[in-house]
Amino acid sequence: MEHRLEAELTLSGRVADVAAARELVARVAADAIQRTIGARGEGRLAEETLDGDRLTLVFESSGPRPHQTLLAFVRRFSEELGRAQKVGVRSFRASKYRTQFSLAAAPKKPISLPIPHHFSHHGTDATLELTELSEAGLRDNWMDRAVTLVREKVDKQHYEGKEQFWSLLTESPRREMPFSRDPTEEMLKRHWVRPGPTKGKWFLGPTAAHLLRTMERIAREEVLEPLGFHEVVQPHHDSFDILLKTGHLAGLPGEFYYVSEPKTRDPAAWEKFTDLVKLTGEVPRDELERMVTGPTAISCYAQCPTVYWWLSGRTIATESLPLLVFDRSAVSNRYESGGRHGLERVDEFHRIEPVYVGTRDDLLALRERLLERYARVFNEILELEWRTAWVTPFYMQQSGEVGVEDADARVKGTIDFEAYLPYRGTREKSEWLEFQNLSIVGDKYTQAFAIKAQKGEIWSGCTGIGLERWLTAFLAQKGLDVDGWPSGFREFAGDLPHDVKFL
Ligand code: ATP
Ligand code: ZN
Ligand code: MG
Repeated sequence: MEHRLEAELTLSGRVADVAAARELVARVAADAIQRTIGARGEGRLAEETLDGDRLTLVFESSGPRPHQTLLAFVRRFSEELGRAQKVGVRSFRASKYRTQFSLAAAPKKPISLPIPHHFSHHGTDATLELTELSEAGLRDNWMDRAVTLVREKVDKQHYEGKEQFWSLLTESPRREMPFSRDPTEEMLKRHWVRPGPTKGKWFLGPTAAHLLRTMERIAREEVLEPLGFHEVVQPHHDSFDILLKTGHLAGLPGEFYYVSEPKTRDPAAWEKFTDLVKLTGEVPRDELERMVTGPTAISCYAQCPTVYWWLSGRTIATESLPLLVFDRSAVSNRYESGGRHGLERVDEFHRIEPVYVGTRDDLLALRERLLERYARVFNEILELEWRTAWVTPFYMQQSGEVGVEDADARVKGTIDFEAYLPYRGTREKSEWLEFQNLSIVGDKYTQAFAIKAQKGEIWSGCTGIGLERWLTAFLAQKGLDVDGWPSGFREFAGDLPHDVKFL
């Protein structure tokens, strides 16, 4: 595989002693090639032209891509030329940077990139040329990232349309289904819920709220507290920095609710806005846009990223491991668009997200105990018909990675919990509802957030308990009449508030 980097350097002035400068170029280039490519391939300075304050260089390599060579060259050359002739390198860029690499499979469709480039391929042999690549692009390794991106795009072309990975793990006993209607429709009829004033959000009246909180209490008292989890309270807005680290920003930009801030809180600056509201009785949209910033954060999408942020850059003492916490404060917001349905797929939902950090063995043991506790709740308290399946890990889905079976023999990965919803059709043909999941993530996030243990390696994981989903799964199978509910659940629920009557 051949790589060719044509660089243009602008010097801070004209070089007085051209011969000495050219000698320096040759020496520093040889040294940079030696240090960055060395025995890992063949590197050479293929061309070199010095013209006034412009130095043009061409590096070629059959080993590592030569941008590190250029960076090493610039650093050293600038120093030495400065010492000898009081001239340094003011700026540089790559006018053309070409690389060859092989793909896992031939692209099926054209590949696009958002930076100036030419891409071509013969079968799986690919050539990518970036043009006008800036100094920052060279320093930040854009060529390697562009190659990774091309590979991902090609993988995706082959993967698109294929089913997500799904493999059945366990099944509960079959249960009688006394109810077969859509529970949200029934809740609407009884005025338990009302579609909210903005997209995909719901107002839960006293009865529905009571049931949602009952689900929450069952999860806490029957699963989390017995296993030693402690509650944390986290902020509701997630920074872009967090999303860059988890991969969510690249994976799901179309699913976030973005947060903007007022540019100022000075009432004088808002006077025109206020006046327009008073005069027109409407929202002055243009003026509003002028007065608020672009997005500065997102509204919580999932809680675990912010828990990782809490731990970032810290070393956890052995006595605090395994660390078991859960958040139930931040409400999850997701732009579900066409997928919205009833209370089971909403744009704003309430979820407990337990997060665990510990050794691999800690987490594997914890997973077993969580599975046992969950099974008790779903079998003995909610009496659901449900099943579990091994699926494409959420952290791959959510960062847009291609889903494959994890090579790590079902150690790392995600288990989905699914409930049968009779209103959707037969058990065999209908789609079951994922009402929660449980993952072991390995060291992906502990690495990304630089979280360390006092000694040894640490892993992490999370399990998302979707309360609207617990509730709809339960009501879809049992109906809305208290008499039809299992006694275990009735005990937890206690007396229900009276339905609010409307005339
Ligand atoms: P789905 O495949 O149904 O969209 P997901 O894979 O996006 O779910 P996760 O991101 O893994 O879900 O979130 C964990 C849990 O949060 C889910 O198991 C579910 O209980 C709940 N959840 C996710 N999205 C929604 C939603 N739009 N409405 C209600 N609950 C949700
Ligand atoms: Zn999570
Ligand atoms: Mg989803």
